Amino acid sequence: MKIYDITAPIFPGMPVYKNKPEKQPSIETKTNGHVTESRISMDVHTGTHVDAPLHMMNEGDTIETIAIEQLVRPCKVIDVTSATEKVTKADLESKSIEKDDFILLKTKNSFDTEFNFDFIYVAEDAAEYLTSIGIAGVGIDALGIERAQEGHPTHRTLMGQGVIIIEGLALKDVEAGSYFMMAAPLKISGTDASPARVLLLENVTV
Ligand SMILES: [Zn+2]
Repeated sequence: MKIYDITAPIFPGMPVYKNKPEKQPSIETKTNGHVTESRISMDVHTGTHVDAPLHMMNEGDTIETIAIEQLVRPCKVIDVTSATEKVTKADLESKSIEKDDFILLKTKNSFDTEFNFDFIYVAEDAAEYLTSIGIAGVGIDALGIERAQEGHPTHRTLMGQGVIIIEGLALKDVEAGSYFMMAAPLKISGTDASPARVLLLENVTV
C-alpha cells in the first residue's frame, strides 16, 4: 500500500507564516548522560495543522471537538497548480467536487521551499462556491487559507458552514485523485488549532 506523508517537517528554521520569528518552534534537548528529553515550544498553527472555529470566531469550537471521523476519511486531491495569485470559483467549477467531499487543493505553493509572501490562497468567491456545494472540509498547501484579507472572509465563510480547514499540506509528490486521508491532530484541549500528521493512502476503500 502506498502511503503519501503530506506533512511538513517541524524544526527550528522551518518555514513559518510571514517569516515571523515568534512563530519559529524551539526545541530544547537535555541529557544527563543516560536519559535524553526534549521540550518543544511552538505555535499551534506550526507546519501542517488543523484550524478550529475558535481561530476566527470568538465563540467558536476548539480543536478537540472535531470528531476524528471527520478527518480520517476519503478525500480528493484537486490540482489547481495553474492558479496564479489565488484559487477562484472559476478555477474550481470544472473540477469534480461534490457534497460532503473533503478536498485538498494542490497549488504552486507545494513547490516552494521557503515561505512565499505571495502564496496562493483561496478567494472568497471560491469559499462561497465550496460552501454552496456543501463540502465537509478543505485543505491547502499554504500556511494560511487566505492572505490576511480584511475580515478574513474565506475562513469565516468556510467555518461558518462547519467546513474543516487544514493548512500547511505538502502535496508536491501527490497526483490529483481520490485517496483515503488520515489527518490526526494532537489531542490538545481548548485551542484554536493543532499540528497534525496527515497521510494519504492509495487504493483504500471503506
Ligand atoms: Zn491555521
